[in-house]
Amino acid sequence: MTNFENASLLLGQLIAFDTVSHRPVIELASFLAERCASLGFDVQLYPDPENEKKTNVVCQAGPQKEGGLIISGHMDVVPTEDQPWQTDPFKLTQLNNKLYGRGTADMKGFIACTLTALSRIEVKNLVEPLTLIWTYDEEVGCKGSQKLVDALKNQPNLLPKEALIGEPTDFRIFRMHPGHVSCQIVTTGIAAHSSKPDLGISAIKRMQSILTSIEILEADLQKETKYQNFLERPYVTLNVGSIKGGQAVNIVPDKCEIILGYRPLPGDDPLAVFERLNIRLQELACLPKGSWSMSLLNVTPALHTPEHQPLEKILCPFASDPQASAAAFATDGGNLAKLGIHSLIFGPGSIDVAHKANEFIELSALKKGTDVVENVIRLRCEEPLAYF
Ligand SMILES: [Zn+2]
Repeated sequence: MTNFENASLLLGQLIAFDTVSHRPVIELASFLAERCASLGFDVQLYPDPENEKKTNVVCQAGPQKEGGLIISGHMDVVPTEDQPWQTDPFKLTQLNNKLYGRGTADMKGFIACTLTALSRIEVKNLVEPLTLIWTYDEEVGCKGSQKLVDALKNQPNLLPKEALIGEPTDFRIFRMHPGHVSCQIVTTGIAAHSSKPDLGISAIKRMQSILTSIEILEADLQKETKYQNFLERPYVTLNVGSIKGGQAVNIVPDKCEIILGYRPLPGDDPLAVFERLNIRLQELACLPKGSWSMSLLNVTPALHTPEHQPLEKILCPFASDPQASAAAFATDGGNLAKLGIHSLIFGPGSIDVAHKANEFIELSALKKGTDVVENVIRLRCEEPLAYF
């Protein structure tokens, strides 16, 4: 069997683990831990303190010293319900040189490439450290990598300072992306019979003024552009993703709740927009103190890796575009940056087919991905002096 056939065989095994984010990831994590241990890595699990069925996997090889490389990917995938799949999303299916299944592109394909590449390498010969990080709950706000960073914050030098995160970029190099912050805003009022609305206070009406403030803020933010040549939308985008309020048509509602998400730009304080909105709402005369509250739900930082990192130089000859640019989506790289790690996002497959029905990866991309990862490891960790 060729190494390439190994990659698609392995991808079939990875796809068969149903690791939709709300389900346990422990079985896939154990599979990867075992596989990496058999390749010669020291493996450490970093379980979620609140849920033992979720864990990050950190695998280390090579000498313990400065330098080296992290290769990282997330193990979880997005749901498939209510999507018009033509094949079983958890059974890898080959049709016309494409492999279909949930996670083929985002991003179990890359994990298969990495493990296949490693089977061609003697990790005991590495002269620079090589660390593999497989995370959970990336698709629901990069929560796994956040927990890993919390666990490692007192050992900042445990990990190498450069990371390759193999999200599906069609082999483009991304060194920036916006982050994502979600928050909840709740208004309260006084319930009353709708025939006597003057006896009550509508929480939905209060929310209406908050929504207007958010709209004005959105227009202001659109004028505050940054990285125009880099980002498709070079400003902070906002979205009210859900709204809930009221019980019945004949009751003045006493509670309303929205979930707001926004995408902070690289280099900005991720909480700046949250604080700005908070101040604006405090100034609204129609919102007395105690009638509303605003709380943070999740913060995924933006990525802002400086240009011309050594890894960028290595990836360049393999990239579909030699110019590093910015991704529209967030990754674990924003959290890893808190440990001083510079990440580049680069991998096989296309983000355009991710998160949808009939997600696929081209066989050729899986093959190229395996070759590239092998080259990157050799150039960065096996013979770095020959390269630099
Ligand atoms: Zn992904």
